[in-house]
Amino acid sequence: MTAAPALKTADFFDPLTAVDYLDARYANVEPEEVIDGALKYFGRRFALVSSFGAESAVLLHIASQVSKDIPVLFLDTGKLFGETKRYRDQLIDLLGLTDVRSISPDVNDTQRDDPKGALWNQNPNKCCYIRKVAPMARVLEGFEGWGSGRKRYQGGVRSLLPHFEASDGRVKVNPLAFWTKDDVLDYKERVDLPDHPLVSEGFASIGCMPCTDRVSDGEDERAGRWRGQAKTECGIHLSLAENSRILSKG
Ligand code: SF4
Repeated sequence: MTAAPALKTADFFDPLTAVDYLDARYANVEPEEVIDGALKYFGRRFALVSSFGAESAVLLHIASQVSKDIPVLFLDTGKLFGETKRYRDQLIDLLGLTDVRSISPDVNDTQRDDPKGALWNQNPNKCCYIRKVAPMARVLEGFEGWGSGRKRYQGGVRSLLPHFEASDGRVKVNPLAFWTKDDVLDYKERVDLPDHPLVSEGFASIGCMPCTDRVSDGEDERAGRWRGQAKTECGIHLSLAENSRILSKG
């Protein structure tokens, strides 16, 4: 394979050129090759983001087959289920991941904007901003590319996901974009990955405790997230400009 073109100077990185390069080589390949391609291209400036939620084990297992020391960023919002943290620790041991980084909100932000810890109930967009979006933006300063486990079948804004996309000066990588729900379940069963402990209790998509509900048979798997609200995404997959626009509406 030809070497990646020299896209960078000391202070310049062009995500669109990077997407063109990666698309030309890894657009129609399996998730493992997408991760391998991203690691070859970005080296240690590529990370995965994982919620260690209901389907996270699949992407993490695939990544661990490529590199056990791939940086994995875990947003510990301060509002997670205890089961999620225990599941994180279980998967780290099982998969041999050596570089899982827990990212916390800035204590100044939480003390100023959410001193009672109830902001999720009054202004969930702002709560997500200080507990997820802002910490994520800070940690991503050290990376040029980052990947997550989003899939097209999850619908909504995810239904047109490509493998590689430019966003806020970086490349977002979606190794599982084209997998179906059955692909995910088959893989999980084939390599015998453990379930998140809340799956057996009816949770299909698992985020923060106050904003995650069980789903009924036939419901969309993300229907329990921010149930009853127009909100469907936490914001880390939106641009910073989109987040500012949402915040300005209150
Ligand atoms: Fe806050 Fe809920 Fe967003 Fe978690 S998901 S950061 S609790 S609003």
